[in-house]
Amino acid sequence: MKVVKALPRDINTFMHLETLPHYVFYDYHNRKAPMKGYCTACKKEVEVVGKKNNDKGFCPKCKRAVTFKSRGRRGHFHDRSTAQVIQRVGENEIVVRFMKAYASYHKCDIPDFNVYETARLLIRWEGNKIVKWDRFYHSYTHGALTPWCRGDRPRFNRWCYYFENDLCGFLYHKNLDKALKGTPWQYSALKEYYYQDPTPLYMPHYLRTYSSYPVLEYLVKLGFVRLATYIVYGDAGGHHYRSWEKLINVNGKTITEVLGVEKKHIAFLRQVDPGIQQFNMIKGMLNEGVVPDMELMKWCSRTDVSQSDYITVPLRFMTPYKLMKYATEQYNTYRRIAYNKGIYSGVSNVLSDYKDYLLMSEALEHDMKSSFVLYPNNLREAHDRVNDLTKAETSAAYDRKLTKMFSGLMERYGFNKLGFTVLPPASSKDIAREGDKLHHCVGRYVSSMVKEECIILFIRKTSAPKKPYCTVEIKKGDIAQARIQNNNPPPPKLQKFIDLWKQQVVYAPERIAA
Ligand SMILES: [Zn+2]
Repeated sequence: MKVVKALPRDINTFMHLETLPHYVFYDYHNRKAPMKGYCTACKKEVEVVGKKNNDKGFCPKCKRAVTFKSRGRRGHFHDRSTAQVIQRVGENEIVVRFMKAYASYHKCDIPDFNVYETARLLIRWEGNKIVKWDRFYHSYTHGALTPWCRGDRPRFNRWCYYFENDLCGFLYHKNLDKALKGTPWQYSALKEYYYQDPTPLYMPHYLRTYSSYPVLEYLVKLGFVRLATYIVYGDAGGHHYRSWEKLINVNGKTITEVLGVEKKHIAFLRQVDPGIQQFNMIKGMLNEGVVPDMELMKWCSRTDVSQSDYITVPLRFMTPYKLMKYATEQYNTYRRIAYNKGIYSGVSNVLSDYKDYLLMSEALEHDMKSSFVLYPNNLREAHDRVNDLTKAETSAAYDRKLTKMFSGLMERYGFNKLGFTVLPPASSKDIAREGDKLHHCVGRYVSSMVKEECIILFIRKTSAPKKPYCTVEIKKGDIAQARIQNNNPPPPKLQKFIDLWKQQVVYAPERIAA
């Protein structure tokens, strides 16, 4: 390993002040006079008034966020944290150093404080390309030639959290301009990115993503921090690998090209700072010529609501203001506060119930103009009531809804070419019959279809339009599956028709607008 520079001189102070929690310790008494305290952040004597043990607040002198602790009750405890320091080690190389801090309070105001290094990452580049990405960990063994071992620190059990292995941490930001000058990351906006939310992160991800996607700089500097975060960290789970590439044009020259929206909407989007799902939702609305309500979108951003039908369905019946008011009220009243207390763990859960309730009420032909129907006092109860009907009542309601949907679906998806025809189902019996004939379980999709979670369509041979042949499920504007008899995939001739239909109908913008 190359000789690295000394650590920044103020690294201990940085870790103490910016990465660990602070306390004001005080001597408790029950008289009215102020209690005498000491702040661990500014290390000054302070006066404490009207605080209880473990109250959160601010130091009266340095104004930092602190926890108030009574000296009599604090006992032994410790805090720990991680930080990352970037340093230049050569013409074409930087090192990221992973630091740990431990502060142990043994019934005293001044902790045993320890800072040490656990891991290093060496990054070398040529031109703008990363050519080396070497990880090392500190083995803590003395006497060896070097304590640095290549690779990741071993762990006993991958499902268990090990603080020493954790490389996610705060970023030492004071030397960033200097350390990154002349590197491929000089304009990466890493500092701006970190400043908007100075909490732990695995910073090397940002460096690596930026070298493939310089568009990050634009996004961060214009305030699209949540989109930037998604590009850097969102796909880490691997489920939707680069799913955002459909939404963000990484080769765009201007922000309008990058985001694929008209210039007049940029200011609106900046104010909302949408996440990727919300961006998808807003873009969908904009493409349809609907300018989303600013307050509503901000509210969605705050409450992490990102499924567009949670919003678009209620908006058929009410104003954005009423929707926000009602959902917030329900959430505040029935919020989950313990594992067996309360119902909703997020506003999204409320809206999921609400969408379901509204669509079901509509199918049951309730008066959708009456505020008694639209805003039930107890949403979960009302939701269960409309969903808990007898079989006969439910299937009658489902049938009415499917009949109503028929002509719209025909207009949107109907297609006739190459000897095949696409048809929507006209009743729940149609769907059940299709399942019986083709031996697959499409029957259970009836309720999903009524609740607008998916669309079931039939493909028939034009010569035999009544005979079940192939069933298609459409989800979120795309074909989720197509199945012929016994759950088999379509034969080549039919697949050709499906591809054509997909191009000309399913993805066709003028049909979507209709
Ligand atoms: Zn202080």
